[in-house]
Amino acid sequence: MKGFTTKAIHVGEEPKRMQYGDVVSPIHLSTTFAKESLDEVESGYVYSRSANPTRDNLEKKLAALENAKYALAFSSGLAAETTILLSLLKKGDHVIAFDDLYGGTKRLFNRVMERFGIGFTYVDLRDLALFKKSIMESSRMVWIETPTNPLMKLADIKAISELAHEHGLIVVVDNTFASPYFQQPLTLGADIVVHSVTKYLGGHSDVVGGAVMVSDDELHEKMRFHQNAVGAILSPFDSWLVMRGVKTLAVRMERHQYNALRIAEYLENHPLVDKVYYPGLESHPQHDLAKRQMKGYGGMLSFELKGGLEEARKFVEALEIFALAESLGGVESLIEIPALMTHASVPREERLKVGIKDSLIRVSVGIEDLEDLIEDMEKGFKNL
Ligand SMILES: *Cc1c(COP(=O)(O)O)cnc(C)c1O
Repeated sequence: MKGFTTKAIHVGEEPKRMQYGDVVSPIHLSTTFAKESLDEVESGYVYSRSANPTRDNLEKKLAALENAKYALAFSSGLAAETTILLSLLKKGDHVIAFDDLYGGTKRLFNRVMERFGIGFTYVDLRDLALFKKSIMESSRMVWIETPTNPLMKLADIKAISELAHEHGLIVVVDNTFASPYFQQPLTLGADIVVHSVTKYLGGHSDVVGGAVMVSDDELHEKMRFHQNAVGAILSPFDSWLVMRGVKTLAVRMERHQYNALRIAEYLENHPLVDKVYYPGLESHPQHDLAKRQMKGYGGMLSFELKGGLEEARKFVEALEIFALAESLGGVESLIEIPALMTHASVPREERLKVGIKDSLIRVSVGIEDLEDLIEDMEKGFKNL
């Protein structure tokens, strides 16, 4: 079918299939489904953990957005990640991961999966030679996040996939930051895409969810078995909320990016700012790669103020429109200090080693009026 936005609106919403011609897919809350006769007990919907019509409709929509054959919806991004690892790896297997991953993903790897005998090596995947050197006999998977959080580092999905496939590795890309509107990893050679649906796909900060997209039949079969066997499924109501959110993904992402690029430029020219991290800026060291593998640069950026923690604190506390909050990807603008919030659990030494300074501020740029957002930031600078 058709273009991205047409798919986002129409796939999974099929009035012709509906009893009353509903234009919007209904919320099927039933946990179980009655059969006409004993001959039918194995056919169609049986029990909602295994399959539910509303979740099915969402999964069809999500698959279409990533140009995937299949999608599976989960109760959180981390539940989706857990299902990938549990279904495709076993004791003794090794995973190579980008060293700048979402904190919750690192916690899942180090404090849960390692207890089951799965090993992880963290590598700066911007360096292909380092990646190649880190591949071991037991390596089965490479785990990419691009752009990363909060420093907006990029990994070359196509180049890494080619090298990974030469060594029989499964390539997983966490595509939460870019969203499928701006980046489609399966098209670039990756095997599996994972999303925290909580962020841009849901888009309204009112649902926690996750998704996995895949085109390979065998990988899909294994993960689908585990979706049911482990049971961390997305509820019918949450599935419906995500379907509602996804319909406006394209227009939201355009506006997120419009605002983010202009705010990045405003910050870059401000005398009290040391450095801005946004892949859409010419000054971003991987701007060329961003242009090559992304159709846009998204709504996430971070910047360093001149000074330290005290300056960062004064800045964010003076803002009124930007809410002081973790998470990202909703219509409303959020701001946070990684050293005190999202990355506070990482020891300071380690934070500094990957480049997260005390004065670093992360922004999830919302879709409000640009002039109001900039005026709000002026308040922050005046408070310094
Ligand atoms: C939020 C997030 C996750 C985890 O998703 P949850 O829905 O919070 O479980 C994973 N990866 C990235 C990049 C995220 O931002």
